[in-house]
Amino acid sequence: MDAVIVGAGLAGLAAADHLAGAGLQVVVLERGDGPGTKNVTGGRLYADSVRDLVADWDGAPWERPVTREAWTLVDGDRSVRVAYDDPGLGGGAPHSYTVLRGRLDPWLGERVAAKGAFVIPQKPVTELLREDGRVAGVRVDGEEIPAEVVIVCDGILSFVGQAAGLRRVPGPGAVAVGIKEVIGLPSGTIEDRFGVGPDEGAAELLLGSFTGGCMGGGFLYTNRESVSVGVVVGVEDLMAGPALGNAPDLLEAFKAHPRVRRLVEGGELLEYAAHLIPEAGAAGVGPVVADGLLLAGDAAGLALNMGYTVRGMEFALASGRMAAQAVVEARERGDASAASLASYERRLKDSFVWRYLDAYRDMPAMLENPDLFGRYPREVCDLLGGLVRLGRDAPAPVGAEVWRFVRRNLLNPRDARFWWKARKLGRQTS
Ligand SMILES: Cc1cc2nc3c(=O)[nH]c(=O)nc-3n(C[C@H](O)[C@H](O)[C@H](O)COP(=O)(O)OP(=O)(O)OC[C@H]3O[C@@H](n4cnc5c(N)ncnc54)[C@H](O)[C@@H]3O)c2cc1C
Repeated sequence: MDAVIVGAGLAGLAAADHLAGAGLQVVVLERGDGPGTKNVTGGRLYADSVRDLVADWDGAPWERPVTREAWTLVDGDRSVRVAYDDPGLGGGAPHSYTVLRGRLDPWLGERVAAKGAFVIPQKPVTELLREDGRVAGVRVDGEEIPAEVVIVCDGILSFVGQAAGLRRVPGPGAVAVGIKEVIGLPSGTIEDRFGVGPDEGAAELLLGSFTGGCMGGGFLYTNRESVSVGVVVGVEDLMAGPALGNAPDLLEAFKAHPRVRRLVEGGELLEYAAHLIPEAGAAGVGPVVADGLLLAGDAAGLALNMGYTVRGMEFALASGRMAAQAVVEARERGDASAASLASYERRLKDSFVWRYLDAYRDMPAMLENPDLFGRYPREVCDLLGGLVRLGRDAPAPVGAEVWRFVRRNLLNPRDARFWWKARKLGRQTS
């Protein structure tokens, strides 16, 4: 084989797509029953940043283009919500789509197979083959598969990346766990409840008391005939807090919130999943090449929680393809050493993937502030609650209430320090 790819997620399949398209002999080994069976996302995929890659994905099983974004702060049953509607985000070449991995990954797997790659399920890679110190293939089911290069796309825990000495077991502070349901609803009901048209979709993120003080939040994404609903919580906070052992209850609490309940009630549970998510951002990305080996997608730590959205899928697609491009060049040079494959690292650092990871490198530290998940949502609800409760008493002095809010949450040493640091988010350092 010219290349063995470990893992048929988006990173692995994007790599195979490019290699097979370039005429290389490639095999993708997947431990699950097929592409999409082990893969979990929230799910929205930003298509704009990988437009050149998805441009010819005719017939791809996209769910809905996202034209409505909403962010909600939650305190108990109360909530404050900001929504942004922009039909321009849909149209001919939508900015982002909701997706179901159970549909997207098998479709991509078939596309890759049609180009001549072998996509083989139920093949958990257990070992790397080595020759003169360099990686020279893999062992699976006791069988050796020699290859010029191995592209490791085996997801967040990347046992194969660990075997190569490039990855370590991520600490609890470097990962979150996502618990998710897909709830079936008629398309018309979804459109009425979320306020979108037949060819439009919504992405909603919620933050606040339902995570029980843990770093994290909740999400809702509208698919064509289902809604993806889930919570994500930092594993370190989960281990330290009362929710430990009851993480699934956090999802139940989230679904019971009045705002969420009304959106999904009466639906049919179609899918239940839990999965880890990389949370370390740029600090979680280490070396991505060794002699005869490359890492891509979650296996390389390439995912980003930006606070108001999550990016991982298009990082996986883009990095898988960049790894494959480096393999094609290395093959032309007849040199699969780490030095030769380093063109992948350079491409990655030059790409939007690194631009975002770099600009948001302080995000994981910012998200350690528990006020984001308790006090701030409560204070915002208190402020607006005070303004809307009108009765016979003298009216609340609006200006004074707003000023009090600003002093309590911005203009004091503790909060000012936090918001001062936050101003650097989104600024590239290199
Ligand atoms: C709850 C949740 C919400 C998220 N929300 C979003 C979102 O809205 N938008 C976004 O862009 N990203 C989101 N992400 C992140 C995104 O889903 C991931 O970054 C992305 O799926 C990574 O793709 P991948 O191909 O690198 O890894 P994966 O999709 O995890 O694929 C890895 C594959 O490798 C296989 N494998 C593992 N070990 C072996 C082995 N030894 N041998 C053979 N095969 C193996 C696995 O079975 C799997 O199929 C979310 C993640 C979660 C969990």
